[in-house]
Amino acid sequence: QPDLRNLVVGVDTKVPLANNTYVTAVNFDNAASTPPFFSVMKEINNFAPWYSSVHRGAGYKSIVSTQVYEDGRQVIKDFVKVDKEKDVVIYTRNTTESINMLAYLLCENDKNQVILSTWMEHLANDLPWRGKFTVDYVEIDDYGRLRLDDLENKLKKYSGRVKLVTVTGASNITGYVNPIHEIAKIVHKHGTKVLIDGAQLVPHIGVDMKPFGSPEHIDYLVFSSHKMYSPFGVGVLIGPQEVFANSEPVYKGGGDVKLVTHQSIYWEEPPARDEAGTPNVMGVAALTAAIKTMQSIGIERIEAYENALTNYALNRLKYLPHIDIYAYSQINKRKVSIIPFNIRGVHHELTAKILSGEDGIEVRNGLFCAHPYALRLLNLTSEHIDYFVNNPDIPFPGLVRVSFGLYNNSLEVDRFITALQKIIADKSYYIMKYSDGR
Ligand code: PMP
Repeated sequence: QPDLRNLVVGVDTKVPLANNTYVTAVNFDNAASTPPFFSVMKEINNFAPWYSSVHRGAGYKSIVSTQVYEDGRQVIKDFVKVDKEKDVVIYTRNTTESINMLAYLLCENDKNQVILSTWMEHLANDLPWRGKFTVDYVEIDDYGRLRLDDLENKLKKYSGRVKLVTVTGASNITGYVNPIHEIAKIVHKHGTKVLIDGAQLVPHIGVDMKPFGSPEHIDYLVFSSHKMYSPFGVGVLIGPQEVFANSEPVYKGGGDVKLVTHQSIYWEEPPARDEAGTPNVMGVAALTAAIKTMQSIGIERIEAYENALTNYALNRLKYLPHIDIYAYSQINKRKVSIIPFNIRGVHHELTAKILSGEDGIEVRNGLFCAHPYALRLLNLTSEHIDYFVNNPDIPFPGLVRVSFGLYNNSLEVDRFITALQKIIADKSYYIMKYSDGR
């Protein structure tokens, strides 16, 4: 079994501290983007001499490039167990583009049609639907978990009008993992379709889309390569061949047509039909290499390792004074490697700055592009929100997030805990030092 830490680039990168000395960075922001695997960088180098146009040239390099590009789809299909007969894998730029494309593709300009999103969603799985459909949001409970009873209620309420239920596989704030197959069963019982936003799920937990026609089948799945150790700008959109074949492509240009006259357009079949323009074959080569590396480690091993590390961090965090961990009491439920917290009395932005400036620990803070969910976790009412919006000089509340990748380890968690202890022991000193006179 390869040592997981040695698989990624940059684990020994030194970063400057506020006092101008250097330390090895601790990257706890993997939910945003992960560093590349060495295998990915190697593949980029190996492939570069063969890089050429895809689907266009008769030359040998063009044939090789086309092969790499098309083989990538097969690797993705095996990885998330796509129904090879009925579903199609479309390359995009990222999860955001995948969902936006689908929103345009499914839109029939009929506001009577409903999209059921949820309170947990990243804005990429909320904003694209707004304005095109009636959008409603499935409720969460006090721990930030999706309420399946409310999903059923809303499916009944909008019976016959729900075009799609669109739900995250795992939250980018709490790490909660939704029971995607149970959700699919409920959705199909009500005669509609489900999209799973896999951006935070696919890099951490094995996903099985299940065969077409089975009640547990995931109708649409989207995810991003940059969150799974291949930062070269590829997104994935998987869905029924038939739907794409019967819809007008969102992007139009070269590569998606068989023949065009000034009177007629003869579109290609999917996936080419939905991939207008010169595609990102380098990115596909990188994503393919990343998936193969994840498969060689074993996705179960990745899940188990990250889970153990997350529980280790949670168990250390909960013994620190002055720490609020959000949705903490559900730690034994299945979750991906994300912990949202705050140091009581220290603004989230300052905590992030201090961790970086004092100890080289890189974390994210804010509302994490899932504003409604974050605001609920912070218990902010609409009066609070209005107050902060009307007083922009008062720093807006938010959270601090640590998120682990498969290469992080308990020594790094220990360093993080020691850094927190140091801040907690002398809050006012660090607040003064990092608050830029505010
Ligand atoms: N959905 C979730 C759950 C995410 O965490 C993210 C990335 N933060 C996205 C969607 C958007 O992904 P991308 O920026 O790659 O489009």
